[in-house]
Amino acid sequence: MAIQLTFEEQNLFEEAKEFALKNIAPYSKDWENGDKSPREAFDLLGNNGYCGLLIPKELGGRGLNFLETALIYEGLAHGCGAIAFMLQLHNNISFEIATYYDTTEDVKKLVPDMVTGKKLTAFAFSESTSGSDAGAIKSYAELKEDDYHINGKKSWIANSLDADYFNVIVKNESPENRDMIMLLVDRDTKNFNIGKNKPRMGGNAISCCDIEFNDCIVPKNRLLSSKGFREALRAIDVARVFVPAIAMGIASRAIDMTVEYLGKRIAFNKPIICNQGVQWTLAELSAQVEAGKWLVYSTASLMDSGKSVAVKAAMNKVYSVELAMKVTTMCLQLFGANGYDKNSSISRYMAMAKMLQIIDGTSEIQKVVIGRSLERKVLPKKR
Ligand SMILES: Cc1cc2nc3c(=O)[nH]c(=O)nc-3n(C[C@H](O)[C@H](O)[C@H](O)COP(=O)(O)OP(=O)(O)OC[C@H]3O[C@@H](n4cnc5c(N)ncnc54)[C@H](O)[C@@H]3O)c2cc1C
Repeated sequence: MAIQLTFEEQNLFEEAKEFALKNIAPYSKDWENGDKSPREAFDLLGNNGYCGLLIPKELGGRGLNFLETALIYEGLAHGCGAIAFMLQLHNNISFEIATYYDTTEDVKKLVPDMVTGKKLTAFAFSESTSGSDAGAIKSYAELKEDDYHINGKKSWIANSLDADYFNVIVKNESPENRDMIMLLVDRDTKNFNIGKNKPRMGGNAISCCDIEFNDCIVPKNRLLSSKGFREALRAIDVARVFVPAIAMGIASRAIDMTVEYLGKRIAFNKPIICNQGVQWTLAELSAQVEAGKWLVYSTASLMDSGKSVAVKAAMNKVYSVELAMKVTTMCLQLFGANGYDKNSSISRYMAMAKMLQIIDGTSEIQKVVIGRSLERKVLPKKR
């Protein structure tokens, strides 16, 4: 087993990082403040070949594996973590639809525009009363003749302001049922309403709204899967490979920015970076980020091997996002008051690290997954 990146893998990371520093980082404040629309960022990425990364070449994608794709997200996060997140969310949904679900001919026709980035997608699972406890969702769809009738509300749906298609997970037939199904809903469908963009403490370069279905009718050939819960959890495992790559991009960039700043900032007649206490802090963080990156690469490689990743992906997610939070918090401290400025890059990175601790399963939920796997080593599985 190779334990170093190949020249080609390293190159994918370097290219993405260079692209992001040149084309995204200078404008990330405008995206955060709403002066540029999220869709503009998505178009920029689509036009530069960053959509369809995992999708086979014969379906119009780039045919990359999980490790190569993770390296690209890590590189892009150097420019803006939120924009890298928007892309991986869309790419994961379109990858699953293009390659995994037993989709109908009608859905297959929509795939090419998702692969090239002409159309944007969103993933709608959480509800206002059920985030971590996803099995408790209340939205449901009833099959009446040839159509599904959807009722219910979904909360905190990333990309939703601009998304063309929504991958929606609902209970089958009734809110009390345990079975779930997954449907693909067009944004223009009648009785489907997209709410206002929620202002958040960070990550505002992507949109995030609540959405509502009031007897919204979707043809039955928009069924993506009759095993909605299982497929949604699988999709979240994929995110637990890529969100950590973004977390490590954010953490690395935070350290780079801090070193650069402290090399110029003078206190007590010398650049602040010359203080050993400051160097040791940055040295410890750098070593931890290096370890975090290798956990990401090894989880992505495990995914490439086709083996089960659920527990390792949970370790990857909790380790990387907690580390990104620690790194960005300490780096902001090293920027002093200039870091605390609302418009500082480091404060955007810190707020984004906080977002990553919540989405795709909170850090506590990752520990629940890991903890249960430990319990199962000594006790039989509970029902
Ligand atoms: C910016 C943003 C974008 C999002 N995008 C999407 C999206 O695109 N699609 C989507 O479907 N969802 C999305 N979400 C929702 C996200 O998945 C949920 O917020 C997340 O799963 C947590 O659920 P919750 O907020 O309801 O917290 P709750 O489930 O109410 O949890 C509250 C707190 O209790 C803790 N907790 C809960 N259960 C346990 C337990 N058993 N043991 C220990 N601690 C526990 C949690 O860790 C958390 O700290 C997004 C959220 C945010 C903030």
